[in-house]
Amino acid sequence: IMISEKSIIEVKDALRIEDVVGDVVALKRHGVSLTGCCPFHNEKTPSFVVNSSKGFYKCFGCGESGDAIAFVMKTNNMSYPEAIEKLAAKYNVHLELTDDNRTKEQIESERQKKDTATLLLNTASLRYQKELKNHHKSKLQ
Ligand code: ZN
Repeated sequence: IMISEKSIIEVKDALRIEDVVGDVVALKRHGVSLTGCCPFHNEKTPSFVVNSSKGFYKCFGCGESGDAIAFVMKTNNMSYPEAIEKLAAKYNVHLELTDDNRTKEQIESERQKKDTATLLLNTASLRYQKELKNHHKSKLQ
């Protein structure tokens, strides 16, 4: 069972990184960016910056960076789906589950196989039509 791609997008649309980070870090706003003391390393002067318009955080002290989902994963030691679930609960997003447990790569390679099969089929039917035409021509001659 996996969370559908659609639900993940809904969660991403619903979340506000400054809220997600703000649950853990005391942030001060400076226009579109907010600063606070980094939760990933010990510091007294804030070098942790959250960009609310771009939706990511970066620490200029230790180099940690990522989006809100990565923040939840790292601060709670969660997997990606667990972080999505936590954020969905926070923002009241209903998660749609899918039993499609193929990876993106598997889906992509299956799609390509299908395309190749269709192509082969089309080529075969074209050749057949051509042969049919030639056959008719030869009969007429
Ligand atoms: Zn840091």
